[in-house]
Amino acid sequence: MWFAIGSMAAMRFRGKKSFVRLLSGLAAAVVLGGMMAVAPHALVEPAAADSAPDPDSSRPVYRFWSEGYGNSHFYTLDRDDAQNLHSTDGWWTYEGTDFRVWPLENGSCPEATVPVHRFWSPKFTSHFYTVSRSEADDLRRGDPNWDDEGVRFCAASEPGSGLTAVHRFWSSEFNKHFYTANASEAEHLRRNDPKWSYEGVAMYAPTSGAASPPLTGEAAPRMGCQASGMSSAIGAHDAAQIVRLFGGAGVFRDAVASGRADCVPLDDPALPWVLVNKQNPVSPIDYVPASLNGGLRAEVAGSYADMQHDAAGAGAGSIALTSGYRSYSTQAGIHRYQVDRLGVEGGERLAARPGYSEHQLGLAADVVACGGGGCGSLYDFAGTSQERWVRENSWRYGWIVRYEHGQTGTTGYNAEPWHLRYIGTDLARVYHDGGYRTFETFLGSPAAPNY
Ligand SMILES: [Zn+2]
Repeated sequence: MWFAIGSMAAMRFRGKKSFVRLLSGLAAAVVLGGMMAVAPHALVEPAAADSAPDPDSSRPVYRFWSEGYGNSHFYTLDRDDAQNLHSTDGWWTYEGTDFRVWPLENGSCPEATVPVHRFWSPKFTSHFYTVSRSEADDLRRGDPNWDDEGVRFCAASEPGSGLTAVHRFWSSEFNKHFYTANASEAEHLRRNDPKWSYEGVAMYAPTSGAASPPLTGEAAPRMGCQASGMSSAIGAHDAAQIVRLFGGAGVFRDAVASGRADCVPLDDPALPWVLVNKQNPVSPIDYVPASLNGGLRAEVAGSYADMQHDAAGAGAGSIALTSGYRSYSTQAGIHRYQVDRLGVEGGERLAARPGYSEHQLGLAADVVACGGGGCGSLYDFAGTSQERWVRENSWRYGWIVRYEHGQTGTTGYNAEPWHLRYIGTDLARVYHDGGYRTFETFLGSPAAPNY
């Protein structure tokens, strides 16, 4: 997490003639992605050369914006990169060209210019650019959140004639940096937008030079929450269409878990990824599924029957559904019974309070193992061939084992190898392939050990 840098107070000479802005005393302790960078450093460091950079070979960067990546901006001088993003990646919107920079010449920056180091953070889904060697070094050495992407272009490190300031902003709300050479845009942000704090001049860019070749063709269709049709898909509780507009279940999962899917409700009981735990009750709390079949919600009864059939067919033995949908009042009775028997703490690690049970969704199935002499109880399920088969194969049918051993700190429940939760076949495959152990982690949601 970046520390929002306050005022750019101190002005100080460094070296012979360079006039650089330093961060103010407090702000000089910049927290880079969770690690304190102790050395005070300037955003802009002096160039070594005495001569002025030549603007003629400079070109404007292509600027992109992504709402889906949490108001991230991306700047590139690479026309192929830019064209590819524009034509194929609906997560990014081309905003036109922005400040001018110099391309590398045979891997080096032209005379009197300095390298701009580019970093990428998968955690913050954001790029970071700096001409400050010490800032770049701090990130490389001390901050695991940032991957060094090398030098992608060059800029001037000092003001001069024919140069303009590129301003740097940071948003602690979005966890993003933003750069602009547009003085009125920068002024507007500073005056009117409390979400962005001004960090100072990132670099200096020439005001004239060569053009960048224009991008051509249609933009790729918008993805995720920006996709056209998303709000109607959400309104229609159309899970398949929502996932499709994200570009598939894996992308959908990543977007939800990293906070890039704010438009997607996790509390809509009509959607298969609805999250119900001790922090997230069923909503509305007296919800009843529209249609039930064989003790489960009608649309998942078939997948349960297939799983039951295939378990027997695979020679794992017979399983039976002992408890599927449970109403609010049924759950109230079960909760009361277990709390009377085991006390509040023990009882609530086994039974949910009414309104907090996945069984009320009609998307949970408690299963038991059956043999020649009848069926065992829930507590006999662990260690049976049925339990092993279910653990290894239920995901193929859209079900996950919801409360695994050793996950009580996240789920709030003891291990329940018998409690299966339907999340849909596409998401269950992602869950299985990703090696997830809890639905909370899968969704990037906080642990819910307690009410
Ligand atoms: Zn259960």
